[in-house]
Amino acid sequence: MLLSDLNDKQIQAVTETEGYIRVIAGAGSGKTRALATRFAYIVNELGINPANILCVTFTNKAALEMRNRVKKMIGNDYDLSYITTYHGFCVRVLREDIHKVRYPKNFIILDAEDQKAILREIFEELNLDSKNFTFKQILNYIANQKYNLDYIPTLLAGEERGAKNDLEKIFSKYLDKQLRNYALDFDDLVNFTLYIYLNNPDVLKKWQERIHYIQVDEMQDSSEEQYRLVKLLSNQHENLFVVGDPDQTIYEWRGARPEILVHFDEDFKGTQTIIMNQNYRSTPKILTLGNHIIKNNILRVHKDMFTETEGGVDVIHFHARSEFEEGLWIVNEIKRLKKEEKSSYSDVAVLYRANYISRNIEQSLIQAGIPYSIYGGIRFFERKEIKDILSYLRLVETGDNLSFLRVINSPTRGLGKKYIELLKDVAYRQRVSLLEALETHIDRSDLARPGAVEFIKLLRKFRTRKNEVKVSDLVKEILDESGLTDVLRRDGDAERLENITELINSIIIIETTDKEPLTLDRYLQEISLYTDIDLEKEEDNKVKLMTIHIAKGLEFPHVFLCGFNDGVLPNATSIKERGFRAIEEERRLTYVAVTRAENSFYMTESEGFNSRTGVNKMPSRFIFEISENLFVRKGIMKPEILKEAKEQLNIKIDVSGFQERFRVGDWVSHPIWEKGKVMEVNEDRGEYKIEFPKINKVKPITFTFKGLIPEK
Ligand code: ATP
Ligand code: MG
Repeated sequence: MLLSDLNDKQIQAVTETEGYIRVIAGAGSGKTRALATRFAYIVNELGINPANILCVTFTNKAALEMRNRVKKMIGNDYDLSYITTYHGFCVRVLREDIHKVRYPKNFIILDAEDQKAILREIFEELNLDSKNFTFKQILNYIANQKYNLDYIPTLLAGEERGAKNDLEKIFSKYLDKQLRNYALDFDDLVNFTLYIYLNNPDVLKKWQERIHYIQVDEMQDSSEEQYRLVKLLSNQHENLFVVGDPDQTIYEWRGARPEILVHFDEDFKGTQTIIMNQNYRSTPKILTLGNHIIKNNILRVHKDMFTETEGGVDVIHFHARSEFEEGLWIVNEIKRLKKEEKSSYSDVAVLYRANYISRNIEQSLIQAGIPYSIYGGIRFFERKEIKDILSYLRLVETGDNLSFLRVINSPTRGLGKKYIELLKDVAYRQRVSLLEALETHIDRSDLARPGAVEFIKLLRKFRTRKNEVKVSDLVKEILDESGLTDVLRRDGDAERLENITELINSIIIIETTDKEPLTLDRYLQEISLYTDIDLEKEEDNKVKLMTIHIAKGLEFPHVFLCGFNDGVLPNATSIKERGFRAIEEERRLTYVAVTRAENSFYMTESEGFNSRTGVNKMPSRFIFEISENLFVRKGIMKPEILKEAKEQLNIKIDVSGFQERFRVGDWVSHPIWEKGKVMEVNEDRGEYKIEFPKINKVKPITFTFKGLIPEK
């Protein structure tokens, strides 16, 4: 019964349970399905207890999904906690055996925020500040030091290493604090497990004996250490089953080594390789588009997918003249899908390359009253950095307590809980707001702390500035003068900085497009729609928003890839850092995005000035790599854009390919005269005669004019 819905290759993958086996196959070919079924097969047909099978997935979400799938096949009677991530498994091992390195069982795990807190301490101790290093640089440095296990004996011995420079000093202190707190960061989890295995043959043996079968999904994104771990574990029983798609490697920047999958057979003689190339997920049109995009990668093993499904709707590229139009178009299309195709909101996923892109889409969705949720992320207006700055703005405008409490100590001004309690007390007794209380009594000895005095001075200044400068400039001043920018810079948290830039951009767009000047009061009113809504309604039927990275391995009936502009995807910073390899990885990301779609796929992007790059936004160069006949273009793309794209992106664009030939009777859309009907096609003169109802005239338009698009 387990095998009834599988093809021959999948059946082979499921039933070959012994030895070293790898499955290499493209997106949507049923790898994950085969892997889940194999797990069930080993349990149901071979009688093995799931406690002896390690099944590694890439994310916790994927692990959860896998457990549910497996449960359906084997029932509820088993403990499936070995269906997990590398990190999840390592935590299990360490809780049991970390005493081998004299750490207690209840060691703590540091997340990124904890790591920064430690760095803050170290900066103080060493008298360093953000001018020396950003936290991001240091965290990168630490991660690099942890690419091998050499640091572990030093950490465990609690020795000061002879540090030659500041970075080494910081690292040494970081390790020291780790030991004092019995703390491990994420990289340590795998490294410590490996270290303990390598230095304690008895422990290794125990685990090797326990784990009879190992299965790894998304192998192409495993790191060298993760691979070493499963290799070691499989030594005893020699059953290791790995599946992956090198074309979907999207974590090379964080140490993924797709070569491992490609050269797996050299590491294990006698490896069986199973190739699957039938796609069950997508319509032929979507699949062809995916194949077409990934073909442009140079570093890859050629493979094409095919499908037996037929038909399907066209892939659509929508080029919008503004981000507002882009959001609106997506929303309208979602509404249409719901109405005409009877899709539900939860059938729709909106994907993007960078978190800040969600802002525009969220606003459009909220305006249209469409419920949505963000997978693995926080809604734009809920993000800390955005809330902070908006609270400052509100405090300047209204002086309310909520905003006051949010920003009085952000960034820290040394005004702790006690101080705030005292202030609350004063305000309560005098029936005034916290801000008023502080302003009135700022000279009182118990209230006149330097941080508070400074804060009041700042606010007074902002209140004056609010009447003198534009809202966008006020935001910049608040950021700089309150110290928020410094905090963000020191953290080197690119995402937060991007979100802030995105917020400022969105204000500038209002300021430059609205006829009446934007006041702070009106701005706050406008966005209250986005900040005050009752956020998580208990409702499953929601549009799903997420980054492409999060979407890995998942599938959705309808997929929008939005913000598909050059510099976003491919990402300009990645290209700057890693050049050609980054472009290839960005192309794989695009491939991952396309191949998430089952029935329809849309790519959208918009024009406008990009203050990040200082030039006009352009469609992604990847759009120009795709043959025009593989998708339908909507929206009006002016010829200048094509020309500029050609120059800016320095890519070969076959401009003629963009020109569609119309026939008599076709309706077209013209950038100025809007709808028109083709009355005549004159091949000799190379022009159409088009009648435009708007001006009630027939105009000759040359074939080479790029502003005409089909009107549906
Ligand atoms: P990805 O590379 O994106 O992770 P995958 O190779 O893991 O994709 P799956 O998610 O396992 O692919 O399968 C894709 C879709 O095809 C799923 O909806 C799955 O149920 C379906 N599918 C897989 N195999 C078959 C089959 N033999 N017959 C019908 N449908 C199948
Ligand atoms: Mg999969």
